[in-house]
Amino acid sequence: MIDLHSHSTASDGSYSPSALVGLAIERGLSALALTDHDTVAGLPEAEAAASGKGLVIIRGVEIEIAFSPGEFHLLGLRLERLDGELGEALLRLFKSREERNERILARMREAGIGATMGELREMAGEGTLGRPHIAALLVAKKAVRTRQEAFDKYLAKGRPFYESKDCLELGEAMRIVKEAGGLAVVAHPLSLFVSWGRLASLMDEWKELGVDGIEAYHPTAKISQCRRVERMARERDFRVTAGSDFHGTIRPERKLGRTAGNLPIGDEYLAEIGL
Ligand code: AMP
Ligand code: ZN
Ligand code: FE
Ligand code: FE
Repeated sequence: MIDLHSHSTASDGSYSPSALVGLAIERGLSALALTDHDTVAGLPEAEAAASGKGLVIIRGVEIEIAFSPGEFHLLGLRLERLDGELGEALLRLFKSREERNERILARMREAGIGATMGELREMAGEGTLGRPHIAALLVAKKAVRTRQEAFDKYLAKGRPFYESKDCLELGEAMRIVKEAGGLAVVAHPLSLFVSWGRLASLMDEWKELGVDGIEAYHPTAKISQCRRVERMARERDFRVTAGSDFHGTIRPERKLGRTAGNLPIGDEYLAEIGL
């Protein structure tokens, strides 16, 4: 069993990179891609923890791409060089995120919910701060009862505390991932929130642009939908991947090494990414 999509405390997962590696070994995984949002900061710790334990760490990242109506996430897998252009781009995204978070906190204060950057930092530890942590802060401040309520009421697109952050264009993100020696894989394409017909034409464009693969299997989709995405991807000669998008205890329904329909992710997916 393997997993090609997971998060640690370097972004919004609840396990530190070494705890995540410990869990992967306990579950009998032979390979794990750590794909934190907009950061590669967890990779050295994950690699050190996995060293000599029979678990291969695949260096990854998950980058948000400018898109509407839904969310577009691009996975970079098998990264070889973490500095250079990739490092610079991630630093830029980090700064834009910090500014965005400040704007959200200002909106909260205007609404009478006093909150400081220090309090937000406590919610996330060392990792990249995002709306999931702000949602946790809103729960801690008793403004809402659950993190989901925080999104539904305040933080989702179109809600009163929403603030956008800079995103990369697909072409630029792809160029950066490839410059780092990685494969560019479109994550959970159903989150784009487009019709099947539109998805087909987007896939044609991605192929043209040089996208390497499609994450057809993701736990938020039904298996029948995943199979349909896989067929569409295979018709266009994309690599096909599967992941759990594991976040730890903050999303307990997602299990490491398992994807849509609780299916275990087999080792055959390693060949898909050339390993
Ligand atoms: P950020 O990158 O800080 O804008 O946060 C994005 C993350 O927030 C996503 O990866 C999701 O985990 C979470 N998120 C975004 N929209 C929603 C929503 N409507 N409900 C629950 N979680 C959401
Ligand atoms: Zn996440
Ligand atoms: Fe994602
Ligand atoms: Fe993810």
